[in-house]
Amino acid sequence: MAALKVLIVDDSLVMRKLIVKSLKEVGFEVDPIEASDGKDALRKLDPKTVNLIISDWNMPQMDGLSFVKKVRENKDTKRIPIIMLTTEGSMAKFEEALNSGVDDYITKPFTPDKLKKKLEKVMGKS
Ligand SMILES: [Mg+2]
Repeated sequence: MAALKVLIVDDSLVMRKLIVKSLKEVGFEVDPIEASDGKDALRKLDPKTVNLIISDWNMPQMDGLSFVKKVRENKDTKRIPIIMLTTEGSMAKFEEALNSGVDDYITKPFTPDKLKKKLEKVMGKS
């Protein structure tokens, strides 16, 4: 199986590294692309190659929710699975994210196993 081309969007470098490490730990072969906010992510999002997006919510310049809306508005990127990985844990935020087109939602701190389960779920769907 080809490596999973995953776009990881988070303003924390430490968090981005932790996500990559976690994915590898649970057995995914990943080819990550990192972005530090929504704007940076839109520039780096190649619809021909990216299989999955994992995005934070709170980021400078463009937050995760605005980024998700942009991805869903574009016909070339609207079907790419998106997991939101955030400290925002309220039901209202969760619903807002789902309504904006997020496929699944994980709250920080997360475990590699939790990430694996969510990832298998959203990838199976696409
Ligand atoms: Mg953040």
